[in-house]
Amino acid sequence: MNTPESLPRNADIVVIGGGILGVSTAIFLNRMGRKVVLLEKGRIAGEQSSRNWGWIRKQGRDPRELPMMIESARLWQRLASECGEDIGFGVNGTTYLALNEAELAEREAWLASAEGFQLDTKLLSPAEVDALLGLEGRRFKGALHTPSDMTAEPRLAAPAFARLAAAEGVTVVEGCAARTVEMEGGRIKSVATERGEIQCEAAILSGGAWSRTFLENLGIYIPQLAVRASAFRTSPLPEIHTGGFGATGASLRRRPDGGYTVARSNAATFELIPAAFRHLVPFMPVIKKRWKMLKIRGNSSFFGPLGHHRWTADDTSPFEAIRVFDPEPDMELLNTVRKTAMTFYPSLGEIDILEAWGGMIDVTPDEVPIIDEAPTVPGLWIATGLSGHGFGIGPGAGMLAAELATGRTPSFDTTQFRLDRFKSGRKAAA
Ligand SMILES: Cc1cc2nc3c(=O)[nH]c(=O)nc-3n(C[C@H](O)[C@H](O)[C@H](O)COP(=O)(O)OP(=O)(O)OC[C@H]3O[C@@H](n4cnc5c(N)ncnc54)[C@H](O)[C@@H]3O)c2cc1C
Repeated sequence: MNTPESLPRNADIVVIGGGILGVSTAIFLNRMGRKVVLLEKGRIAGEQSSRNWGWIRKQGRDPRELPMMIESARLWQRLASECGEDIGFGVNGTTYLALNEAELAEREAWLASAEGFQLDTKLLSPAEVDALLGLEGRRFKGALHTPSDMTAEPRLAAPAFARLAAAEGVTVVEGCAARTVEMEGGRIKSVATERGEIQCEAAILSGGAWSRTFLENLGIYIPQLAVRASAFRTSPLPEIHTGGFGATGASLRRRPDGGYTVARSNAATFELIPAAFRHLVPFMPVIKKRWKMLKIRGNSSFFGPLGHHRWTADDTSPFEAIRVFDPEPDMELLNTVRKTAMTFYPSLGEIDILEAWGGMIDVTPDEVPIIDEAPTVPGLWIATGLSGHGFGIGPGAGMLAAELATGRTPSFDTTQFRLDRFKSGRKAAA
């Protein structure tokens, strides 16, 4: 990206965070006629938005997210064509395999819960699964399959959308952290950055895993934690399916370079930081649900960048201390995933780990985003908590954030995205 040498001193709206959500938000705000500055402390999509599996799926979603995801899928098609770059985008389906009757029942239950959304999702028989993936022996009891689901290459998509935003008039600034916001007359007046202040009417915080830290400094406590996930990519391997497919143990997406991105669904490390204790109660149900797949660790990260801090507009903020969060991947886990993938999909042959990476996923207690105005700071909008499935819903969430910040009638029911659905959401600083 061509970052401007001098920072604009004013804007209508400042977007904080250049992941898929912030970049999409900036595009839609600009198309709504607003002067927009997009600030990214590191590089566009340096964090979750380039580290994910690349699945853009309606399948398996919480029904509360489905209207927004259905719109997001339309937006993906539009943006993929408008950006004019090859972002590895394809409508090639999602397939969740079932290893046993219990998993098949879970897939069936989701299908029943999505009735009424007119999705093209269907259940596949064991023979249909074998035909789809070129397998033999009917290892899988069936699968949930949505042909209209999509995939894209995460390392390419958000940067291409940021170039589209810049070409359309958004000022995109990389390597510039927003430190805090300043108020006047009871509402936001400006965003204080490490390169000076930008006067604005509104700001949208789409800071991924950093959003909670940013807000805590303003005395606003949102229940958002982060878990570390890991993935790897392979060398080019035979093509058995072009979309995203997976079973408990190993999930794969075919990449444009002929390899696969491989990982294990829901497997993550949860590092104990002060916020983990503060928000333990609302998170208990999700911790219990994911217990078998979670590793819980207490280590130096307790005092790390997502820990507890206070600073002013003149202080160096935690966002400058870590430009790009690049956590170590869990290689023990990935070696197991690799072996499982070779057992499940033998036609792929020998699977190598060409490159492995980690990523911090931001999560809310109900795994549904928060898109709402910040309590106590009118004009500051929170758009965060995409909870491990925000690559797909990012453009839809960005559209909603842009509509709310500009006072438009929102395209979706916003109740499920409000902060006050969590008891702690409106608690001000003591
Ligand atoms: C391993 C892994 C696999 C995943 N797989 C999928 C998948 O297949 N499908 C799917 O839909 N989702 C998936 N996800 C989740 C998805 O990647 C995220 O939900 C989504 O990318 C979040 O987007 P975001 O823009 O909210 O956050 P991010 O991409 O994290 O972007 C936030 C940005 O804000 C910047 N920032 C933060 N604070 C400041 C500040 N103060 N000033 C300036 N900049 C700031 C950060 O540097 C960062 O670049 C996966 C995630 C991981 C890690």
